[in-house]
Amino acid sequence: MKSETDKLIFWGTRGGLPAGEITSAKYGLATCCVGLVLSDRHIIFDAGSGISLFGNKINSNDKKPIDIFIGHYHYDHLIGLPFFTPLFNKHRNIRVFLPKLDDRNGIDAIDKLISPPLFPISKEMFSETVSFHSFIPGNTIKLNANCSVETSLFPHPGQNCGFRFKRFGNKTLCYISDIENNSENTLENIIEFTENGAHLIIDSSYTQEELKSRRGWGHLSLNDIEIIAAKLPQTKIFLYHHDIFKSDRQIEEDAKGILSKHSNVRLAKQFDTIQLS
Ligand SMILES: [Zn+2]
Repeated sequence: MKSETDKLIFWGTRGGLPAGEITSAKYGLATCCVGLVLSDRHIIFDAGSGISLFGNKINSNDKKPIDIFIGHYHYDHLIGLPFFTPLFNKHRNIRVFLPKLDDRNGIDAIDKLISPPLFPISKEMFSETVSFHSFIPGNTIKLNANCSVETSLFPHPGQNCGFRFKRFGNKTLCYISDIENNSENTLENIIEFTENGAHLIIDSSYTQEELKSRRGWGHLSLNDIEIIAAKLPQTKIFLYHHDIFKSDRQIEEDAKGILSKHSNVRLAKQFDTIQLS
């Protein structure tokens, strides 16, 4: 029987902007958002436009609390938040975890984005069962006796926080969106953080050729992922944060090389549901 828990769901896989044509719908039009369905809670990584789809689908009989982890404050990772309807439900407990990046408090970014004139409401309209929690990347956030989320800083303009979800001490899932290989240690740090864990969702926005004109934009190339994939053969790696202007065909064409060489790599596809072991 199919389990209703221990699932990983891709609600949004695009970077930059929720956009695209019908020819890019397979890999998704919504921006970054990944959900983990556990027996006692939902965990969400990033609140791109994909989170609104999760809000729409969540069953009203499902009373589980929701813990949302934001990796950084560029709008493609936040724009779904005011459209996430559970935030307005007084029967739903929601915690939003915000990393302190570049010495700035995340709550200021939320206040800026969700307030007039950029948006008609402010976060004061959310239910009082919604709370915001600041943390320093490097901190571990304990969710219950068995589960925790470890965090680490990665290079991106304005910085980005990566997450490692652990259960019973096992590394179940790493989520690292928006990261640039701009130092000798970047890939090493990713490999060390993932430590051959079960799943890794990672920025793979560009080909090596595209990257030449996009240095400083804060993203990895498929060549970077090849190096990571070779070092983490036991890890299922999901290529994520697809460029907004790429059609499904282009995404598949670009990934052809890495997919043929590394059987542990696959493309993250919107609405894909992965049963966690
Ligand atoms: Zn992004």
